[in-house]
Amino acid sequence: MANIVNVVLDIPIYHSFDYSLPKGMQKLQSGVRVEVPFGKRKSIGLVISKKNGASLNNNDKFSLKEIISVIDKEPILDKSIMNLCEWSADYYQYPLGQVIFTAIPPILRKGRLIQSIKEKKNDCIISNIKKPIKLNDEQNAIFSQIIKNLNKFKSYVIEGITGSGKTELYIKISEYILSQNSQILIIVPEINLTPQTVQRFQKYLNYNIETYHSSLTESKKLGIWSRCKKGEIDIVIGTRSSSFLPFKNLSLIIVDEEHDSSLKQQEKFRYHARDIAIVRAMKSNIPVILGSATPSFETLQNCHNNKFIKYELTKRYHKTALPKIMIIDTNIDEPIDGISSELEKNIKSELKDKKQILLYIGRRGFSHALMCKNCDWISKCHKCDSYMTYHDVSKTLWCHYCGYRKKFSQKKLCDCQENCNIVPVGYGTERIERRLNDLFPDARIMRVDSDTITNNKKLIEFVDKTNTGKIDILVGTQMLVKGHDFPNVSLVGIIDIDSGLFSLDFRGLEKTAQLITQVSGRSGRHNVQGKVIIQTRKPNHHLILELLKNGYKNFSAKALVERKEASLPPFSYIALLRSSSYKKNDCQNFLENIKNYFQNDSNVNFFGPAPAPIAKKNNKYSYQMMISSLNRKFLLLKSYQIREYILKRKLNNIKWSIDIDPIDLY
Ligand code: ADP
Ligand code: ZN
Repeated sequence: MANIVNVVLDIPIYHSFDYSLPKGMQKLQSGVRVEVPFGKRKSIGLVISKKNGASLNNNDKFSLKEIISVIDKEPILDKSIMNLCEWSADYYQYPLGQVIFTAIPPILRKGRLIQSIKEKKNDCIISNIKKPIKLNDEQNAIFSQIIKNLNKFKSYVIEGITGSGKTELYIKISEYILSQNSQILIIVPEINLTPQTVQRFQKYLNYNIETYHSSLTESKKLGIWSRCKKGEIDIVIGTRSSSFLPFKNLSLIIVDEEHDSSLKQQEKFRYHARDIAIVRAMKSNIPVILGSATPSFETLQNCHNNKFIKYELTKRYHKTALPKIMIIDTNIDEPIDGISSELEKNIKSELKDKKQILLYIGRRGFSHALMCKNCDWISKCHKCDSYMTYHDVSKTLWCHYCGYRKKFSQKKLCDCQENCNIVPVGYGTERIERRLNDLFPDARIMRVDSDTITNNKKLIEFVDKTNTGKIDILVGTQMLVKGHDFPNVSLVGIIDIDSGLFSLDFRGLEKTAQLITQVSGRSGRHNVQGKVIIQTRKPNHHLILELLKNGYKNFSAKALVERKEASLPPFSYIALLRSSSYKKNDCQNFLENIKNYFQNDSNVNFFGPAPAPIAKKNNKYSYQMMISSLNRKFLLLKSYQIREYILKRKLNNIKWSIDIDPIDLY
């Protein structure tokens, strides 16, 4: 009988395929790519060591098909990455083949030979003159604790207030480790954070540092992937996709801003890079460090249970006090185009003192919608259950859900041709920018959102301009806030926190508190004490007051008690089953069917099905159902059973997905 190998393909199927080896070939190592016949096509597959999923031959009980050719002499994925992929596929209920193929650079997925691809020479400049790092006492105490135990798995958490110098601590630990011929992976939540993090590491370290993220070209990705594998790169600073990079001698993983929801992939293979990092560290028996000024509740609970070891940085490195915070009740001081009179007054006085101002607003565009006051017309998207955002700069109405755009022309919008009175509803960055231009015509104002910062060059330009004092007022979204260290910002304004406070998502409050703390942390980092102004219609929210009075640490402790009482994560585990279809009833019935079949299990609870928050997107309806359990094992088992049930009953005529540990519920 011919020798058989198990092969996975880059397709949404939950099992591997058996192929026979050509005569004379005894076996193939796992991790090697092969070309195989699949249906009428040829396909690239990867050999795995044991069968995955239900045993299924590609050709029923008849003769097995033979592989066409073997592409690699050596495995392109080693055992540890294969192992990590297997774990991830099991945990996140995603087909192993697709997980494995995400861990392979795009060029190699198409079957090209590694040897045939010319490698670009390393273009990173290493200069020899580096500053020595000197830590302060607090940083130093943590440094000496962590380096005591470097050669084994441990999860450390560094909870350090904004500006306390987490990055310098990472650098010092990295320096120590790198002197022993090792490699380090640093995961950051956003591409935008990679250049500045690299710069800061390069200031001190004479090592080969590279970045890895989705906007690199395919050949650059491959270059980094293979040099990393050969041990030629010392530090990789990357976004979540870097958590599957191969390393020759990985000795430490750092996850910066571990609370950030961008670390979770929100589509297809819905993994959380922080959790992958922890599992990877455990499997490789190396330490992992999670850093944040505002750790996620999951992480805090793990510290509380002594699964993680927590260290704290309680002082700002530059010794400035944390900013003074002022709340403005917008029921009383009604903002005009987003700016209350108190905020206006404060901006004016900062400008007079030649200080920088940063204003945060969660949305881009001019307004959430346009409305006619006369006939009640509103700019609803005809394909989605949502409004079309008005972009004034491009004079377009734009649905941020399905991408539909149309040019705005005052006349043709609504039914009343005569007295039509079109007004904007809600604020976005453009509207705030316009108001600021009206109020402060002499100020140099810069808007920072994904409409203005469209590439890396623009990002660097904006950071440079800000740091060299060429900007007076910055107004922007998340992009403006995350991780930046602007020395001259002394006033921060948060235009509105209410959407977070009134959110249906049980994490709404946690996210709002993280946002407030992170945004506030941009103020007064270097010299003078900063100021923060928060506008809200709910100025007396008890937990927000706790946050402002006693800080994130006390806030989170109190908020965790409320989570516990409600048996919500991290005190329970959840998965979200989503369905979507052009027929509304189909997606609802699909979930009902599953619920009816499975709900007699007292170890899990089902909530829903209910329409998704945006129930219709691009003409497709979405429903969702939450599955929760007090025990992670039960939740995973149930998720697996549900998946198998769907596949067996061939309920697959509608689109569905399962999201383990979902971050965005609404
Ligand atoms: P965090 O990431 O904790 O908010 P940063 O790492 O950005 O804080 O540090 C805040 C500021 O303090 C930065 O300007 C940083 O360069 C400076 N800093 C922190 N630690 C040191 C150190 N040991 N030596 C020199 N500068 C430091
Ligand atoms: Zn739409």
